[in-house]
Amino acid sequence: MLNFTVGPVQSFDKVMELGSMQVPYFRTPEFSAVMKENETMLMQLAKAPEDARALFLTGSGTAAMEAAVIHTLSEKDRALIINGGSFGQRFVQLCRMHGIPYEELKLDMGKALREDQLWDYKGKGITCLIINVLETSTGVLYDMDLVSRFCRKNGWFLIADAVSSFLADAFDMKRLGVNVMITASQKAIACPPGISMIIADRRAIRRIKNSQASCMYLDLKHALEDGGRGQTPFTPAVGILLQMHERFRQIMQDGGAEQEIRRTADLAHDFRQRITGLPFEITSESLSNAVTPLRPVRGCAYRIFQALKEEYGIWICPNAGELKHTVFRVGHIGNLTYADHEVLSRALRDLYKRGMISF
Ligand SMILES: *Cc1c(COP(=O)(O)O)cnc(C)c1O
Repeated sequence: MLNFTVGPVQSFDKVMELGSMQVPYFRTPEFSAVMKENETMLMQLAKAPEDARALFLTGSGTAAMEAAVIHTLSEKDRALIINGGSFGQRFVQLCRMHGIPYEELKLDMGKALREDQLWDYKGKGITCLIINVLETSTGVLYDMDLVSRFCRKNGWFLIADAVSSFLADAFDMKRLGVNVMITASQKAIACPPGISMIIADRRAIRRIKNSQASCMYLDLKHALEDGGRGQTPFTPAVGILLQMHERFRQIMQDGGAEQEIRRTADLAHDFRQRITGLPFEITSESLSNAVTPLRPVRGCAYRIFQALKEEYGIWICPNAGELKHTVFRVGHIGNLTYADHEVLSRALRDLYKRGMISF
């Protein structure tokens, strides 16, 4: 199968080789050294401030979202959640579930965030802004410069879920003044799912240390303590951490985050060129390099997903809920090439000839 979803995505060879090996015992100085290097490399790739800390949790991206919300916010906060799709909605659910007061800025499907929408929340007691840098469900990349300026001016704490945009779109944690950055192993990091990460800046570390949250498995205070010596409170997904170590090292060797982002941008551009002339509309007004959301002018998005899967050996990414039949997404993250695009665009042209999609 050729995988154009947004995660899990196709891994690179060395990462896959590591996946076939025995998993080592981890309470050792050798594994601690790997973990300290993972922390250093992740912070470099995200351009985190020097006094930040990176934490590795065993769980999918949502584990880090939940851990961040419960340890850096409390009932004394008032969060503004940018909700433009299912990942924004997840933060709404988390705040609701954990008793964090919040306001919700709902965006219409595919729409970018505008400055005047943020102004509506000035003077409303907001203390924190929560945003998915890329709302993966709709393929909308938010203007983080705008968000950053606004948070700085108002002293708002800023939580940025960069799960799907990290290493696909430019991100500079320090320059943006992001206090908590979240990402996960299975998107552009292109490793198996199972590890999620939090980078906490000085302000976030202070909040974590003062947190009254009661939680055992995702206890970030405990994770900060043990992480200081390259360890985790409980058995982590050791194999994935070793695979991530290899992947991070490769990215650093090949020219760092900038080069990886350029590679992804080139892939996205190539794909978008190839589908001009086919009956698709791009549904995001602010595109990321990671994904292209497409609406067939006529034709069922879900049937296209099924046909590509069953008849062509290709996975694209279907949408859930309301968008199931109208929109599908093509990912540009992971180990993909222009030759893979040739295969996909040939299949799409074939579906067009067969009348499954039309103008
Ligand atoms: C994939 C993703 C997550 C994490 O989802 P999991 O299924 O828990 O890994 C969180 N936020 C965004 C924006 C994502 O794309």
